[in-house]
Amino acid sequence: MEIEEAREVRTTCPYCGVGCGVLAKVAADGQVSVRGDPDHPANFGRLCSKGSALAETIDLDGRLLHPEIHGRRAGWNEALDLVASTFSQTIAEHGPDAVAFYVSGQLLTEDYYVANKLMKGFVGSANIDTNSRLCMASSVAGHRRAFGSDTVPGTYEDLELADLIVLVGSNLAWCHPVLYQRIAAAREKRPEIKIVLVDPRRTMTADIADMHLAIAPDGDVALFTGLLAWLGQHNALNRAYITAHTTGFGQALFAASALDLAGVAAATGLSEDELGRFYSLFAATPKTVTVYSQGVNQSSSGTDKVNAIINCHLATGRIGRPGTGPFSVTGQPNAMGGREVGGMANMLAAHMEIENPEHRDRVQRFWNAPAVARKPGLKAVEMFQAVADGRIKALWIMATNPVDSMPDADAVEAAIKACPFVVVSDVLARTDTVRHAHVRLPAAAWGEKDGTVTNSERRISRQRVFLAVPGEARPDWRIIAEVGKRMGFGAAFAHETPAEVFAEHAALSGFENDGARDFDIGAYAGIDGEDYDALVPFQWPAPKPAEGAQAAGGSSSSRFFADGNFYTSDRKARFIAIRPTTEIRTSPDFPLILNTGRVRDHWHTMTRTGKSPRLSQHIAEPFVEIHPADAARQGIGDADIVRVSSLRGEVLVRALVTPRQRQGSLFAPMHWTDQFAATGRLDTLTAPLTDPVSGQPALKHVAARVETF
Ligand code: SF4
Repeated sequence: MEIEEAREVRTTCPYCGVGCGVLAKVAADGQVSVRGDPDHPANFGRLCSKGSALAETIDLDGRLLHPEIHGRRAGWNEALDLVASTFSQTIAEHGPDAVAFYVSGQLLTEDYYVANKLMKGFVGSANIDTNSRLCMASSVAGHRRAFGSDTVPGTYEDLELADLIVLVGSNLAWCHPVLYQRIAAAREKRPEIKIVLVDPRRTMTADIADMHLAIAPDGDVALFTGLLAWLGQHNALNRAYITAHTTGFGQALFAASALDLAGVAAATGLSEDELGRFYSLFAATPKTVTVYSQGVNQSSSGTDKVNAIINCHLATGRIGRPGTGPFSVTGQPNAMGGREVGGMANMLAAHMEIENPEHRDRVQRFWNAPAVARKPGLKAVEMFQAVADGRIKALWIMATNPVDSMPDADAVEAAIKACPFVVVSDVLARTDTVRHAHVRLPAAAWGEKDGTVTNSERRISRQRVFLAVPGEARPDWRIIAEVGKRMGFGAAFAHETPAEVFAEHAALSGFENDGARDFDIGAYAGIDGEDYDALVPFQWPAPKPAEGAQAAGGSSSSRFFADGNFYTSDRKARFIAIRPTTEIRTSPDFPLILNTGRVRDHWHTMTRTGKSPRLSQHIAEPFVEIHPADAARQGIGDADIVRVSSLRGEVLVRALVTPRQRQGSLFAPMHWTDQFAATGRLDTLTAPLTDPVSGQPALKHVAARVETF
């Protein structure tokens, strides 16, 4: 398409779940510039370092520009025919569960929708899972257990309206910087806002906190069950709310009371005094928001952590009202959009459930589909284990790099190498995953394709084209639809534009959907291309406008559960009975706990941010943080090169000796791969241990040791 020059295009940052609006401009000489969109309700013009450097990451170096089959250039028809025929043949010979899609929170909602439709409706398997499984699956599971649906109750505005913000397992300053900036700005206006950080490390986020609770790894369940018990003991419950709007409180309180305060102190590694001060502050502050992120989700007890937090909010009635609520912030730009269209192995679209025959029937009739999946598919870790043992014989990986990002990464790489047929659609020609693909399909990148993303507060924003599509790249939704047509499902995949895909997604969401009830869920079912192009950011679902009020697209902000009605059968929220437990998985050989995460200026496996020298100036190489006492015990000095090893592998990185690290724990960033530092991939160390409810891997708790090299 022809790109109009020197016009600012309103789009969205492709990195984190804050979902900041970006204005991108291409000058007459081809130079691209970006700035924050002052009108976007997520960021109001702010951008963090990563967003500000977007223009430095869009060159064509390393791009995959043409389809390839076994490393040779191929035409689109040949490549698509091969993908379709191999998937069809594999299904015919071995059944629908012998194939799988592994997709990504980087995909746009339209891409996600078409991939999910093909796999769940037409292949007839639910073997489609996403790297969002590594990001927020425990929040999804926790929401569903408590609310009867995967619904984020609050909005970003609540962070500014709260009098107490509890940040749990979240280095917001580095991982969701614009939300951190919004909190910092709110605190400047209202210095009385209190902030508590719950994190084993003293991260940069601690600099804004009034209280830093340097909790033991995975001590969060004990902390929040202890809080529930404490609220009960100190007459700090909202009994009227509990009676009117919840069930299961008695069992939850009984389970939470298994430890006394001394027991909670032992389980959390915090002093009774610290616990008492935090619990008193929580009890005394009606307007409290608890923000949580990967430190909660990426755990073998992730779902219980989420529900332990939600229990405390239900017990105090702090949900659905301004400045209150449990708030999950997602890592990826479109983890939420993927959830909406059912892009996970255990969900159907629009929050419908695979196990529910009525929901399956509804989806099947809407799609006129031959075979809607009847049971949940394999979640990410299980999926690659099925690839390894030969149950999955054809695998399509879209917009993600599991050879570097999955736990037990060497085993994942071996599985992919041994898989009879691997397709990878990506923007890059040579990631560690792409190099193992039999068929490589060039995907359009950020700025080259149209679609929508949903941020952590359920706000849908457009991503828009401002760059010409290079080579023969195509948007993912179109690639998937072409394969669907070639597999014999032509009519169902006849979409010509992303607007048509979005309109179908909206129509399915509203189709015979009792769950929509008071919400304007189907409002966009009839949207045409012109209105789609003109969409302004909006929350979805959002409350139906009152008589004579603005349409849904114009609503600035919406909260769920303001009326105390939830999506369970009796419309009451469920307390979940959780016993406080801690599980430390160290051993004499591996006596430390390795925690993995992000740095401020890089994103995932650095395929985009690694292009910007400016972003690499902040932290130029991989490292491991270690407490001075642990370092001294091993004779490790600051900046030494050290070997970090686990049962599964080892990496060589530089030691950063700092009291910000908790004694007995290590921290290392996940970004660097062999492509950027010849020291090894961090996820070769992590284990395929998952939360039993959500299937999310425990990427923040790996038994490890560190020694001089
Ligand atoms: Fe992009 Fe997140 Fe930074 Fe906003 S906060 S500019 S969405 S990386």
